[in-house]
Amino acid sequence: MLKKILIANRGEIAIRIIRACRELDIRTVAIYSEGDKDALHTQMADEAICVGGPLTKDSYLNVTNILSACVLTGCEGIHPGFGFLSENPKFAKMCEECNIKFIGPDFEVIELMGDKAKARKIMKKANVPVVPGYEGEINSYEHALKISNEIGYPLMIKAAAGGGGKGIRIVREPGEFKHNYEAAKLESKACFGEDKLYIEKYIECPRHIEFQILADEYGNIIHLGERECSLQRNNQKVLEEAPSCFLDKSLRNEMGKVAVRAAKAVNYKNAGTIEFLVDKNGHFYFMEMNTRIQVEHPITEMITNIDIVKEQLKIASNMKLDITQEDVKINGHAIECRINAEDPSNNFRPCPGVINELYVPSGPGVRVDSAIYCGYEIPPYYDSMIGKLITFGDDRENAIIKMKRALDEFAIGGVITNIDFQYEILEHEDFINGDYNTSFIETKLVNNNA
Ligand code: ADP
Ligand code: ADP
Ligand code: MG
Repeated sequence: MLKKILIANRGEIAIRIIRACRELDIRTVAIYSEGDKDALHTQMADEAICVGGPLTKDSYLNVTNILSACVLTGCEGIHPGFGFLSENPKFAKMCEECNIKFIGPDFEVIELMGDKAKARKIMKKANVPVVPGYEGEINSYEHALKISNEIGYPLMIKAAAGGGGKGIRIVREPGEFKHNYEAAKLESKACFGEDKLYIEKYIECPRHIEFQILADEYGNIIHLGERECSLQRNNQKVLEEAPSCFLDKSLRNEMGKVAVRAAKAVNYKNAGTIEFLVDKNGHFYFMEMNTRIQVEHPITEMITNIDIVKEQLKIASNMKLDITQEDVKINGHAIECRINAEDPSNNFRPCPGVINELYVPSGPGVRVDSAIYCGYEIPPYYDSMIGKLITFGDDRENAIIKMKRALDEFAIGGVITNIDFQYEILEHEDFINGDYNTSFIETKLVNNNA
């Protein structure tokens, strides 16, 4: 087992990783920015080392300082969490070159799956159904328009390097093409430093259903069932649940098999997620693979009783998976609400500030992954997600009852949060009936002032 690792992240995911390490007797080194001196991860790790200024480019993306911190503190590995450097193949390669274990897949696989156009190509070859579309070179605007006319409208223009819902534009008719093409290109350049695009048919009112993969370094690959992540705003997840109420046993089995086949096609290692879009007829299409731990991993942990972060650490320590596909048993139902410091009545504008009052819900079936405490000042430099509230019930109805009870208990003073907005989703009749898709928040919520 690895003895000491550096955690190249912050917030609740850094805390989550520290907890797994403690249970496995692995020592931890936190990195922090000058804006995160008082952050919980900085205080909770065995050691903490400042790697730069508050801006992410100076600290959490500062590869030179992070690698130096790792070597200086004698760490054998780096857990990248999600976001930041977690899907940066150059960083994973540098780790390898410095003899530091990157806790994730090989850099070649990160590179391949990080280019979503290339990923589509590989999946097609592996007989994995992908969203109809075009992943070849796009030479010019005219070329893109010609391809689009062949694919047919509505369609989506997407950034090949995309992530976090950025660089995606819907085009409903040819007249809207130019403006959206240029917007996607600009956003991609601004967010990801490059503007390679690809084009997909727009799937109407789809559900986003993804499969959690675990793969060891000996070629054993299993899945831990699915998560439904259709409740989104601006293509970003808001509330997730597992299992999905849309899948029956046979579709679940089929998608699980395809997900494992997709992971095998790239010789995948460690934890990863295959994201699918599923249309109303139950046709499913590969959308992308996330080569890292995901925000919503806890709901899978609740219904499988498998600690995914510990599995990541064991796999990175060269241990064989000790769970087979047959061992994976889905039990009960789990829901996650992302708790964000943002103002739903003001177009979800981020609301950093000082938390001057805090009561965190607990009790049977309630789990909170967060990095906040009373008196904590949420810095303005980072993501607005300040925690995740997860509930578990023996069935969906009970998971919902518990979530409403827990949201009611949650008291965060000093900053505006989306807690009431989450409550509104849970009370909606269509949500209660499981009758929703990715357009639910935009079309069904009264107070969605987006
Ligand atoms: P998940 O797929 O785990 O639900 P999200 O899409 O919500 O993850 O992203 C998790 C975090 O990582 C968010 O803070 C998001 O902004 C960030 N993120 C995801 N992909 C990228 C990317 N390619 N580049 C930069 N940040 C990203
Ligand atoms: P990201 O890398 O930003 O997570 P994804 O490719 O996973 O981007 O897409 C994010 C979300 O955008 C999906 O969950 C879905 O709601 C929507 N989306 C993406 N592609 C399509 C499509 N072809 N048709 C309909 N919705 C789509
Ligand atoms: Mg995605």
